[in-house]
Amino acid sequence: MTTHPSHVRDAARAAESPQRAEEIRAADRAHVFHSWSAQRHIDPLPVAGGKGSYFWDHEGRSYLDLASQFVNLNIGHGHPAVIAAVERQARQLCTVAPSFASEPRGTAARMIVDLAPGDLNRVFFTNGGAESNEHAVRMARLATGRPKILAAYRSYHGATATTINLTGDPRRWPSDNGSAGVVHFFGPFLYRSPFHATTEREECQRALDHLESTIVMEGPSTIAALIIEPVVGTGGVIVPPEGYLAGVRELCDEHGILLIADEVMTGFGRTGSWFAVDNWGVKPDLLTFAKGVNSGYVPLGGVLISERVAVTFDDKPYPGGLTYSGHPLACAAAVATMEAMAAEGMVEHAAWLGEHVLGPGLRELAERHPSVGEVRGLGVMWALELVRDRGSREMLVPYAAAPADAEPVNQVMAACRKRGVWPFATANRIHVVPPCNLSEAEAREGLAALDEALSVAD
Ligand code: PLP
Repeated sequence: MTTHPSHVRDAARAAESPQRAEEIRAADRAHVFHSWSAQRHIDPLPVAGGKGSYFWDHEGRSYLDLASQFVNLNIGHGHPAVIAAVERQARQLCTVAPSFASEPRGTAARMIVDLAPGDLNRVFFTNGGAESNEHAVRMARLATGRPKILAAYRSYHGATATTINLTGDPRRWPSDNGSAGVVHFFGPFLYRSPFHATTEREECQRALDHLESTIVMEGPSTIAALIIEPVVGTGGVIVPPEGYLAGVRELCDEHGILLIADEVMTGFGRTGSWFAVDNWGVKPDLLTFAKGVNSGYVPLGGVLISERVAVTFDDKPYPGGLTYSGHPLACAAAVATMEAMAAEGMVEHAAWLGEHVLGPGLRELAERHPSVGEVRGLGVMWALELVRDRGSREMLVPYAAAPADAEPVNQVMAACRKRGVWPFATANRIHVVPPCNLSEAEAREGLAALDEALSVAD
């Protein structure tokens, strides 16, 4: 008898009703308005289920989830402890107004604070990443009485009114209202250096000099906060050079500017540490999170607040709130997620996998495929930057390309899907951002499929 992994069996079961796929597709096409899409051109895959590092459709095909959905599924699909915790909480209390205290919210807040760096001792819960950044920025402005926020080019901070204006790439342009109160600066990115540097050290120093000049020219007394992704996520997995984040912290301190770390993508294990700032020992004044806090089993985000900021609201009220702040189901999922990650050593595993399997494996692919210009990453957060020409570094898909020009990357994605792996594509990059508990064998399966798929771009 042939034995199949459980995801193959489950996928085969889901395929027993193929007409369901058509019904789901039809309802979606007729009635769902999709994000980031021209509505006429959407054709999403109906997903039937998921387990561990795999999900499957209604037609018997399963996929290795190298995207962790939207880079949120840090503990993989269908973790039994998280499902049980949500079920238990649903029977007990499904919803409660944020003005009450509740067991899951208090426990989640205490656990998050215990994991967080520095004196980030309080949590304001939200429903996701953008809301977290909205509130962090609002807190910073209210705490300092200053209007401006510094944000990096190539960053992504969300799709709400304020956060899309913070975002430092073409996703901002159609909704830009003049970016009131936002000043963008260049962060370090040696491969496409805005400073014409040739070494990481030089790039780091020039980026810090540029940031200092920006602060001085804008007027430090007008700047409330600087928001930064410690490792740039959808902008291309740009890992900062040694000393950069510490230098940013120093400049902020010198000028009375609050430092907001946007850890919506990097938090809760993705970089092989609980928080990405831990990799460089940097302590922000505010830290925003979402995604990995409960792997997105129920929407949840939040702002971790340092004492320095929190005390400014000791006597004056914080003028903001959300009906679902600290939602019991979401917080119960967060508690179970953090417990499972700690008990199963997932954060350490993510660091190990990055260093010993994904990093070396992806660099080996780069040697074989001329379409790969650079491999960047750490932990379970990697990107392959695709180029037309390695010498000139011309992008495979040009900056701010029209959707039709994204075809070469779409072809790589299609080739991956054909081979049963589902990475994450942004502009001219393929991101390999699997769950933290991806096994070594699954990682090697993914690398082998990518190796074949990349040939379409060479
Ligand atoms: N900040 C970062 C760094 C992100 O990667 C994202 C989403 O990908 C967001 C903020 C926005 O989060 P959400 O989509 O939950 O609003």
